[in-house]
Amino acid sequence: MTELLFQQDSYIREFEAEIIDVFEDTILLDKTAFAPKGGGLMPDQGILQFDDGYQCEVIDVYSKSGKVYHKLSLVPDETYIGKTVKGIIDWERRNKQMRLHTLIHTISSILYKKYGTTVTGGNITPEKSRVDFDIDHLRQERVQEIEAAVREIIAGDHKVSVSFLERQEALKDPELIRTKVNLIPESVKILRIVEIEDVDRQADGGVHVRSTKEIGTFVPLKTENRGKDKKRLYFTISP
Ligand SMILES: [Zn+2]
Repeated sequence: MTELLFQQDSYIREFEAEIIDVFEDTILLDKTAFAPKGGGLMPDQGILQFDDGYQCEVIDVYSKSGKVYHKLSLVPDETYIGKTVKGIIDWERRNKQMRLHTLIHTISSILYKKYGTTVTGGNITPEKSRVDFDIDHLRQERVQEIEAAVREIIAGDHKVSVSFLERQEALKDPELIRTKVNLIPESVKILRIVEIEDVDRQADGGVHVRSTKEIGTFVPLKTENRGKDKKRLYFTISP
């Protein structure tokens, strides 16, 4: 198992770790602050600096069976196993993802609390993110209502906190049940819970900002009608 530093603190930009293994195009570390692709988020990018001054780019990060693999522009040989490496996260890219991710949680909470609708899909990219949800009518005034509610929560500076909860406890919490906590594989005994104070609470593995104010300016781009009960909202943040 790789220790996931980004799950404890999403604001770690630099870290040191030990090289556990090297493969053809990937490297395995004992711990990492690079967040892998998943949960609608893109993988982090950045650089790794080795003891001897050698440096390379992290171009992809993915998770498999509890281990996080870093795909590199150039992979060192096996003599590097056991050595220490310094990781530096591409912070501009990461911080945008954190802001957009907390924003998606905010939007899905509004959709549920105001209209009883659930988000059925979503995708986060810095240029254009989207959420899909099932609602029968999406009139202009309703779109404006959703946008106003999002802006109010951002301005309200709601704190975002992370805690860890035993699976049995999580299964008793109605709000966590609503977000389908029961669908998390049974092998996961301790769940990571992300809470946006007075807004949203769910089991979640991804990176978030510390408070809704850090989301910044919410920029809705367009809405799309994708069938009877399927609507899509595109948005981004600025700057
Ligand atoms: Zn999430």
